[in-house]
Formats: sequence, structure tokens, C-alpha cells
Amino acid sequence: MVNAKRSASIQRLVVCALMFGALTLAAGCSSMGSSPASSAPSKAVLITAGNGTTYVMIPTSDGKGVQTLSTTGKPETCEKCKADAIKAFNGESIAPVCDKCGATRTLLQMPAQ
Ligand SMILES: [Zn+2]
Repeated sequence: MVNAKRSASIQRLVVCALMFGALTLAAGCSSMGSSPASSAPSKAVLITAGNGTTYVMIPTSDGKGVQTLSTTGKPETCEKCKADAIKAFNGESIAPVCDKCGATRTLLQMPAQ
């Protein structure tokens, strides 16, 4: 039961991340006017830290940084994980385990819409 509950909470977090990204993009589009639709965030990195904390990193609207979303509200973000997430968003592979903080990283590909 505990595992099922935790899994559901992670799924909810990912959905929230996607909605947040879509909202950010929509806001960016309406203010910029000419943003191509192809800049929609299509990837996210799911981070599971050693203490069980789970959070999701998504690209910022300019694609140069990451936004971190967490169920705890106070994610202990690791600089190495952040840097690797940015690389992953730009098409590079990401090591499944961070060699700095030991967190497990999973690259999530959004289904094409
Ligand atoms: Zn790390």
C-alpha cells in the first residue's frame, strides 16, 4: 500500500510539472507573441534522493535553466543534478545515479501532442 501511494504521489507531481510547464509556456507565448510552438517543454527529470525525497526538474521557458518542483516544497537541489538535467534537456544522456549526491535520476519524455 505504501508503495502504491508513493507511486501515485509521484505521478501527480509529474502531472503538476507538465501543467506548470504548459502554463509557463502559454504565459511566455502571450507576452512574446512569436514564440514557436516547438519550444514546448517535452522533457522532465525525476530525481529521487537517498532519503526518499522525490522532485521533478523541468526546463525554464528560455531553456537555459531548470525549475524544481517538489512534494515537500523545499527540495534539496544538487548543483550536479541541476547541471545534468540541463544537459538532458538539450539531448544528452543523463547518468542514472548522481556521482555527487547519489540521487536516482530518470529522464521523462513527454508524449507528443
Ligand atoms: Zn546530485
